[in-house]
Amino acid sequence: MSSLFPALESPSEQLALRFGERSLTYRELAAASGALGERLRGAGRVAVWATPALETAVAVVATLRAGVAAVPLNPKSGEKELGHILSDSAPAVVLAAAGDELPSPVRDLPRIDVDVDADVDAGDSGSGSGSGLAPSAVGDEDPALVVYTSGTTGPPKGAVIPRRAIATTLDALADAWQWTGDDVLVHGLPLFHVHGLVLGILGPLRRGGSVRHLGRFTTDGVARELNDGATMLFGVPTMYHRIAQALPEEPELAKALGRARLLVSGSAALPVHDHERIAAATGRRVIERYGMTETLMNTSVRADGEARPGTVGVPLPGVELRLVEEDGSPITSYDSETVGEIQVRGPNLFTGYLNRPDATAAAFTADGWFRTGDMAVRESDGYVRIVGRKATDLIKSGGYKIGAGEIENALLEHPGVREAAVTGEPDADLGERIVAWVVPEDPQSPPGVEELADHVARRLAPHKRPRVVHHLPALPRNDMGKIMKRALHSD
Ligand code: ATP
Ligand code: MG
Repeated sequence: MSSLFPALESPSEQLALRFGERSLTYRELAAASGALGERLRGAGRVAVWATPALETAVAVVATLRAGVAAVPLNPKSGEKELGHILSDSAPAVVLAAAGDELPSPVRDLPRIDVDVDADVDAGDSGSGSGSGLAPSAVGDEDPALVVYTSGTTGPPKGAVIPRRAIATTLDALADAWQWTGDDVLVHGLPLFHVHGLVLGILGPLRRGGSVRHLGRFTTDGVARELNDGATMLFGVPTMYHRIAQALPEEPELAKALGRARLLVSGSAALPVHDHERIAAATGRRVIERYGMTETLMNTSVRADGEARPGTVGVPLPGVELRLVEEDGSPITSYDSETVGEIQVRGPNLFTGYLNRPDATAAAFTADGWFRTGDMAVRESDGYVRIVGRKATDLIKSGGYKIGAGEIENALLEHPGVREAAVTGEPDADLGERIVAWVVPEDPQSPPGVEELADHVARRLAPHKRPRVVHHLPALPRNDMGKIMKRALHSD
């Protein structure tokens, strides 16, 4: 088995992780994860109570070094969702920061306390760097993580992610982003999904660089860290939206973003409006990457490439990507009009859904392509533009297939619209009619259906105008800020 973290093999005194006031050098992280890992040997699958804290990062690194699969748990999940994940994944123990109170049913599991200081001491006085870990019996195809999907389109499914997928996706991103051990990441994401955990923690550690986690995302925190030498920011679109909103009042923030080497967005589409506001105020363009729990990362705008708003760039090295028609036949000639479902193949893919052989079989074609369920067009130069999800974002109206995303982007350009989501609902004449869900800038005078329909029809085409507009105080979003469209019904 090759090491996922070469920098932990002969560790230095460089900063590895910082959460608020607490930090670990590579030497300390090697000691702590080595000592904890020794206690986990042979444990089978372990759950990790994934608060945005140093203990979570140490716990996951320890499981990976011990060759034990980790199941990160979202501490904000309700009892029902935690119950589903625990009965599905059947972990032997839960790792949690000493002192964290665990809710039912997590507290019914045997528990191992993570005490970082004690583990650093134990590692230092015992096996030193924990180099006795990494048993040769653990292979690159063995499961490293079981990560549950975000549950945007249905109940979360446990994706079994092998070590090989983590190593290859992180190395492909290093190539695309010119990502090195000199990079310092500003991190404000949760740690129970691929974005915050695999990219945000394991990514910098594989490169031998540093992570500074904000605990809780704030625009002040981002400004402080970027002005203090951090080089990269990873965020979800709701964070970049908050940044775009704050920029006019916070000159320090504009200066900080202007200094960053790389601003990366993912997990959902970054609205073009926010992209453009940030570029205008800072001179920097946010680059988008596209991935899934099941596939880790598929495409990205490259650090040396053109950041084209509304696109997620090109396939990463090693990733094969194609678009297919509804009947499954591959689209062979690309242009900016032809929409197809994205299918991917490559070493970045998961091995299957836990306990779901039917769902796993249904997700792959006979020749091993993964069906993402995401619809896109591909420009003739290879750039991928995601139109939306097949299940919720493709509206069939009046004989047209219309992507919700471009209508959402157009609505967001209206000065009276703060947030927008678009869905389709059954219509006797049109098949489906376009429905807009709008959070108004000023709830006292929300823009009405006629005004928004005209606004969209002028920008896109008349058949893309919304027929119904609902005003809401906020959109239903999950912990990653993704819009939960299945909660949006007119009746
Ligand atoms: P579930 O599979 O449980 O319904 P989910 O698909 O939201 O939830 P994730 O695996 O966290 O769970 O998210 C992957 C999805 O996120 C992709 O299939 C895609 O729809 C969306 N996505 C990720 N990055 C981008 C991006 N840059 N632009 C548009 N969509 C994105
Ligand atoms: Mg999904």
